[in-house]
Amino acid sequence: MTTLRLVLGDQLSVSLSSLQGMAAGDVVLMCEVMEEATYVPHHPKKIAFLFSAMRHFAAELKASGCKVRYVTLDDPANTGSFAGEVQRAIKDTGAQRLVVTEPGEYRLLETFKAWQDDGQIKVDILGDTRFLCDIAEFKAWAAPRKQLRMEYFYREMRKKHGILMEKGGKPTGGEWNFDKENRKPPPRGLTSPQRISHAKDDITRDVLKLVKARFSHHFGTLEPFHYAVTRDQALIELDHFIEKLLPKFGEYQDAMVTGEPYLYHALISSYLNAGLLLPLEICHRAETAYRGGHAPLNAVEGFIRQILGWREYVRGIYWLHMPTYGEMNYFAATEPLPDFYWTAETKMRCVSEAVKHTRDHAYSHHIQRLMVTGNFALLAGLDVKEVQDWYLAVYSDAYEWVEMPNTLGMALFGDGGIMGSKPYAASGKYIRKMSNFCDTCLYNPELTTEDNACPFNALYWDFMARNEDKLTQNHRLPFIYATWNKFDKAKQKAIRAKAAEVLGDMRKGAL
Ligand SMILES: Cc1cc2nc3c(=O)[nH]c(=O)nc-3n(C[C@H](O)[C@H](O)[C@H](O)COP(=O)(O)OP(=O)(O)OC[C@H]3O[C@@H](n4cnc5c(N)ncnc54)[C@H](O)[C@@H]3O)c2cc1C
Ligand code: SF4
Repeated sequence: MTTLRLVLGDQLSVSLSSLQGMAAGDVVLMCEVMEEATYVPHHPKKIAFLFSAMRHFAAELKASGCKVRYVTLDDPANTGSFAGEVQRAIKDTGAQRLVVTEPGEYRLLETFKAWQDDGQIKVDILGDTRFLCDIAEFKAWAAPRKQLRMEYFYREMRKKHGILMEKGGKPTGGEWNFDKENRKPPPRGLTSPQRISHAKDDITRDVLKLVKARFSHHFGTLEPFHYAVTRDQALIELDHFIEKLLPKFGEYQDAMVTGEPYLYHALISSYLNAGLLLPLEICHRAETAYRGGHAPLNAVEGFIRQILGWREYVRGIYWLHMPTYGEMNYFAATEPLPDFYWTAETKMRCVSEAVKHTRDHAYSHHIQRLMVTGNFALLAGLDVKEVQDWYLAVYSDAYEWVEMPNTLGMALFGDGGIMGSKPYAASGKYIRKMSNFCDTCLYNPELTTEDNACPFNALYWDFMARNEDKLTQNHRLPFIYATWNKFDKAKQKAIRAKAAEVLGDMRKGAL
């Protein structure tokens, strides 16, 4: 009996559950389909990275003796969808069984379940064992809890996987979290160490040509293209990070600098999410660097927390709450996404920098995503669906399971507090402290209502005021509301009028 083993673009790991126990006649099916490349207008670098990584992975499987049916985007017979390609493959191979590892998006899981139900072929959907907490385990952890907090989940993961743990179940260094030593503002002149540019082979060159021809109209620049596209290259990226950047990761994790998209961040999310790297090997590499005296504990613990904690936690939240999660909109935010998210044409230096980094690299680091573009979207009440679609389209590491909780939950508080205990709302003063953007901005972060006042300041107070009924009971915000209520009525009115003016300018394209 021939078994068809469908491997998706973000499942490029030889340890993938659907690739285990292969029999001689089994066929691995991989396809580049238009439906997936365009359901949001993905950044050309993201499409090129995935197609090239898929083609390299298929070549490696073939070299190891697997039978692979690889359908390129420009294959004239390509039907443009997974459903169409599976149908064609069944017809051509006579397969009676389809095996697939569970996908990272609810929409695709529903598609695969429908195939199971229609009975044309036996369909086995296997768990994704590459994650460190499976979906059932997360649900069991969440079930007895009124509130889910990442920090407690993370401690369980540390214990379960024995990462940064000492005898007697004690955390290494005596504490679970060393963030008080992290997150420093950037010193003047902070620059990013040299990053790697991987050589392009014929496969990547062909893919770049294809993407240029088909997807040039999508937001984002395709070249120069520096991405790793094989596991070996992704491992070189990981080594580079561990050796050269990890020691300062914690310190500069929240810093933002004009013209410096990367600073000390790892740049591994695209490789990790596509399966070229695995989470546990990354955590072990980081821990070894600490134990060998190559990186301090604050940096190593902070980095491991992102992968063992945040990454697994957001996935758990996604699967726990889908499909209703995607429909949540706690603040009823419906303001259309302004053009500057696509053009970078705004006088707000912080936003234009973050959008330029995104356009040029299909990347901006966490704090730019959260505290600049995300924070602006939260304060301005931008439409949660439009904002989510933007994040899903523009980053090379974006898949719904990780993008949605980060955008809807963390950045927009659209889930009303499932992900976080309070909105990550901040005025321009936070951006001034953590970046050098304000030094060259036409707006002044110290001002709130004046002509050249930083738009974030009035929007921040307006956000708090207009959502008071939804936030006043939040135990982390009384100090904010006490301050707002100390402002006299005239000041409150002036701030809210200024916020209305800012939104008006935004709608006119004059911000
Ligand atoms: C609004 C918003 C949208 C985001 N969308 C995505 C997304 O689509 N895909 C994605 O992988 N990450 C997303 N993130 C999380 C985070 O910004 C990226 O993982 C990170 O910027 C990737 O760059 P890096 O590899 O240099 O990460 P580093 O800052 O060096 O962190 C190391 C690794 O930790 C993991 N990590 C860190 N924070 C998170 C987090 N909050 N959630 C999940 N994993 C995390 C990533 O795998 C990352 O590679 C989003 C964050 C926000 C605020
Ligand atoms: S002044 Fe305001 S808008 Fe300008 S860079 Fe600073 S925070 Fe951003």
